[in-house]
Amino acid sequence: MKKIVFFLLTCLVAVFLLGGCSAESGRVPVSKTVIDPTCLTEGYTEWTYSDGYVMRDNFTAKTDHDFVPFTEGTQPGLIRYVCRNCGLEKTEYVGEEISTEVTVDPLRPRPSFADGEVMICSMILENTTEDAVRAIRAAEANGAYGFMVYVSCLRKEDRTLEDLQQIMYCTDLPVLAIAYNVSLFGAQSLSFDDMADLLRLSVQAGAAAVDLQGFMWSDDTRASLTQYRAYWEAKGFDMSFASANPAEVCADPAVLEKQRAFTDEIHAMGAEVLLSVHASVQMNAGQIVALGKFMEAQGIDIAKIVLSGSSKDTVLEHLEACKVLSEELQCKFSVHGQSTLSRLMCPMFGSYIAFCVDEYTQVQTNIQIELDTMADLFEDGELKCDLEMLVDLFASPEMKGAR
Ligand SMILES: [Zn+2]
Repeated sequence: MKKIVFFLLTCLVAVFLLGGCSAESGRVPVSKTVIDPTCLTEGYTEWTYSDGYVMRDNFTAKTDHDFVPFTEGTQPGLIRYVCRNCGLEKTEYVGEEISTEVTVDPLRPRPSFADGEVMICSMILENTTEDAVRAIRAAEANGAYGFMVYVSCLRKEDRTLEDLQQIMYCTDLPVLAIAYNVSLFGAQSLSFDDMADLLRLSVQAGAAAVDLQGFMWSDDTRASLTQYRAYWEAKGFDMSFASANPAEVCADPAVLEKQRAFTDEIHAMGAEVLLSVHASVQMNAGQIVALGKFMEAQGIDIAKIVLSGSSKDTVLEHLEACKVLSEELQCKFSVHGQSTLSRLMCPMFGSYIAFCVDEYTQVQTNIQIELDTMADLFEDGELKCDLEMLVDLFASPEMKGAR
């Protein structure tokens, strides 16, 4: 009994001391801040004491996400929401449900991504296999010729052979698999080998093609361009593009050999390779053509070059390059800059891929052409657009929205 009384007394003293009233410790709270909870973090009260000690208590639970609809397109049956606090997205399907039933037929011949006249390609960035299947089928109904699926955007648990097969077999149109270090929730850190493995798995699952990034297995592509420019010039290549200091163009022969081995491997599996360069600089037509030829020499099926610049002058350089490349390259190419005008017109001058979005979302940055719009310009791969259509198009609210 005595022990218990002593214990209680000790507790009382302790509470008295911790209460901040003790002259002995000198610890007096000098400020109190109440932090409200959000959908990402709990709320709490923060006490700062005179000696600099900081303490938090009175924790409160996280709040629900505050979803607001932000779909700008007109696609029926689909609403996208984004949390106004944390940016989390969710997709809601209303009205007629798109089936996610998929029959995997391993005997189906693999479709080709590269053998058409033009590829009106819908970009698919979804977090789950089911959402990707729905998005592909919705875009197919809206006129897409093929799809670029960011397999790296899928949740980790959906990056399996079985899940990827659902995506590759939900359509008979060709799917190109992309594994980049972006996801719907910010950057991730896949190694080069992780990305290559994910692409191999996608091909195994039935993908028609893969996106090989120009900087795969390179530590520093810009340094390699400086170091090996003379090496390639001695072999007869026009390396004038190196003066523009583009990103993602590797010139290191050892790294290119590794990329070539990967390309050969994908070809041996029956799929195609698109080599992509996001140059992040402006280039003139001559430099773009030289780069296209350097990329073609890597043995790939499509050379994709994305350039900076949105002025009319840069668009003219892109169009000039497209005209020359369509005469001088054996492989397909895709060239465009960062403007609607360039994205819209380059396919009219021989650039193979018209990158489209079926539905504008925050992730897709609203810079690509809307699928309906691009599909309307072509009929069975033939351009059917005239000047009057173009004028109407640029006056339309959709194009103003896409700048
Ligand atoms: Zn939230």
